Amino acid sequence: MGASAAEWDSPTWQLRHSFCRAEQLQAVLELTPEEQRALAHSGKRLAVRITPHFLSLVHPQDPADPLRLQVIPREAELLHHPEEMEDPCGEDKDMPVPGLVHRYPDRVLLLCTDRCATYCRYCTRARLVSGTRLQPDTDAALDYLRRHTEVRDVLLSGGDPLLLPDERLEELLSALRRIPHIELLRVGTRVPIMLPQRITPELCRTLRRHAPLFISIHCNHPRELAPQAEHALGMLADSGLPLGNQSVLLRGVNDTAEVQLQLAHRLLQCRVKPYYLYQCDPAYGTRHFRTRIEDGLSIISRMRGYTSGYAVPQYVVDAPGGGGKVPLNPDYLLRLTPQAAHLRNYLGQAYAYPTPPET
Ligand SMILES: *Cc1c(COP(=O)(O)O)cnc(C)c1O
Repeated sequence: MGASAAEWDSPTWQLRHSFCRAEQLQAVLELTPEEQRALAHSGKRLAVRITPHFLSLVHPQDPADPLRLQVIPREAELLHHPEEMEDPCGEDKDMPVPGLVHRYPDRVLLLCTDRCATYCRYCTRARLVSGTRLQPDTDAALDYLRRHTEVRDVLLSGGDPLLLPDERLEELLSALRRIPHIELLRVGTRVPIMLPQRITPELCRTLRRHAPLFISIHCNHPRELAPQAEHALGMLADSGLPLGNQSVLLRGVNDTAEVQLQLAHRLLQCRVKPYYLYQCDPAYGTRHFRTRIEDGLSIISRMRGYTSGYAVPQYVVDAPGGGGKVPLNPDYLLRLTPQAAHLRNYLGQAYAYPTPPET
């Protein structure tokens, strides 16, 4: 792409030279006619934006490349199906303040920006990002949090909070830290994968200053964990920030046990614990990405027992309409009788755990 090494390593250079239009993409990828047609229209739904870093990992000829499917629009995303929703997780109805979702008793989700370094085609918040639809009211959100003493955990998301300038992030984190009942801060970010250059020593110090602060990254395929991403994750881990991963189960991208195992093993090598595996939300234009629930359960049953417990994420569905996350697990409890719990292990062998007498 004709960049010097110093330019390539600069997050501002990466953002300024991100790929947003078909002509730019055409210069580095062989676009199929279908991709070209999709590119001509998809911006109305969700902007196209890909960092040079991530695009350099995308296969230039293979339209079925799992990284390519996540960022290059397809015509299928222009279709809306009856089961699809603008706000599939029903977040808007649990927003007491613009940008603040308070659904669970002791924790909140704070959407603090509508920008991302790269837009994922299956985005569940396409309604809020890449445009001007989300006008977060930080002062009102802070005010709400000061009054709601039951909130002990604040999860920053968006958009991508790590796209905020260091000073803005510092301001927001220190304002949250001044609220005595807030114990835990969390940041949900895809920046270590999409724009690893943004993970600087200065940013690590800012995050570290406000510990305990957990980071949930979003990585769907082992190839996303390129050397620069691994380096960025290493810096965050060395700064004492616990790292988890939230991946989305996507057809053609990571919907096999083999890919999920490779992903989990690469994540653990990068000191990231696989946290959640999300069923893909029925947002507009995502039918081509969605799998069946049985597929997700079968993947988990081919992980549990066969590899480190640390490698196995919790499979969840964010209940359409706003019920929150529902955990799904393969059945290991076969039958409960007064005498025993009848179990099977990961190999399908049957065991019984005797019921203790009532005291
Ligand atoms: C996912 C989510 C959280 C955090 O859930 P955990 O299970 O604690 O990670 C909080 N609020 C909302 C609205 C969420 O969707």
